[in-house]
Amino acid sequence: MRPKIRLLSTDFDGTLVAHDEDPVLDPDCMQLIGQLQQTGAAWAINTGRSVELLESGLLDFEFPIHPDFILTSEREVFRPAQNGGRKWEAFGDWNDRCARAHVELFMSAEPVLAEIVDFINQNTNARILYLGERVEGIVAQNEEEMDRITRFIDKARQRQPQFNYQRNTVYLRFCHADYHKGAALGELARLIQIPREQIFAAGDHHNDLSMLDGRFAAMPACPANAIDEVKQAVRAAGGYVGIREYGAGVYDALLHFTK
Ligand SMILES: [Mg+2]
Repeated sequence: MRPKIRLLSTDFDGTLVAHDEDPVLDPDCMQLIGQLQQTGAAWAINTGRSVELLESGLLDFEFPIHPDFILTSEREVFRPAQNGGRKWEAFGDWNDRCARAHVELFMSAEPVLAEIVDFINQNTNARILYLGERVEGIVAQNEEEMDRITRFIDKARQRQPQFNYQRNTVYLRFCHADYHKGAALGELARLIQIPREQIFAAGDHHNDLSMLDGRFAAMPACPANAIDEVKQAVRAAGGYVGIREYGAGVYDALLHFTK
């Protein structure tokens, strides 16, 4: 018998949300996640969006169900604020530890980052994103340009392996190698005491690989629109590669693992 799903970790854009489709959300998928929640499973949205951008996304796309946890910016862990309302609060001390690790990282990685910024300015039409004074990430003109940029970064970061990035289509965010969607999911699972064997995860792009390689979730999945690297990782981890796209693919994956 298959283990029961007690924790779901789903990506948002391109996995549950089909931006160019009508409907944007798959009704069967929403209903099944809601049913799993009612039977005691926890649903976490695991996204590159910030808390604010995720909240506006949940409203804009008229989500009929509400997540139990949100894992944001590809590394932070939030639970509903314990004093009520609809706001979120940091769950445990993970976000503080994560913030400290990043302050230290960006100080020690300054030379590598400067080299990358030079490359972007001189050799690409990509735009550098800042968070205050700090370089946060990059937006490329297209996927090919981002491929070229990540090839350069992969070389530059060899002398500082802790300096890494998360890529989602033409977007890239710099980060500490120890913090990613998979690590955030692992921390949530530790806090709510759910073993890897009872965790389902679904995503579609590079920044989802860390939660789909089997290390943190024994039931990884991707919809048919996922990029090839994701499909390969999911297959290698014994997961479910969807035949249908977006939420319909996630729905099929949930049926696959629950039946
Ligand atoms: Mg995505």
